[in-house]
Amino acid sequence: MDENCIFCKIVNGVIPSKKIYEDEAMIAFFDIKPMARVHLLIVPKLHLETLKDCDGSHQALLGKMLLLAPVLAKEHGLSGFKTLINTGREGGQEVFHLHMHVFGGGLTGS
Ligand code: 5GP
Ligand code: ZN
Repeated sequence: MDENCIFCKIVNGVIPSKKIYEDEAMIAFFDIKPMARVHLLIVPKLHLETLKDCDGSHQALLGKMLLLAPVLAKEHGLSGFKTLINTGREGGQEVFHLHMHVFGGGLTGS
């Protein structure tokens, strides 16, 4: 838990979110500024700033993130979807707690 991290606060229920999934390692909720009809964020509970901070010890966690995407997409009526992990400021990352976007149902622009 990083005290200054907005997603750690969501993981710990300090900041509310529209949560759609939770298990021991992962949480998923709706993005506050959706860029598609369905825009989900899949977030590991472990505070890792970026994909660059992952190593072999995080392989199972990353696999879980990927495998959760089609499950949640299906639950939200999507037959196809896009996934995105922004990495680092140059990669467009704004929240420095690893997360994967899942978009579907038509992008709405930003
Ligand atoms: P990034 O650019 O870091 O990949 O994306 C961060 C995403 O987190 C953005 O799409 C932004 O709308 C979303 N976001 C930022 N703060 C909050 C929040 O407090 N609640 C929720 N649900 N989403 C957030
Ligand atoms: Zn965090």
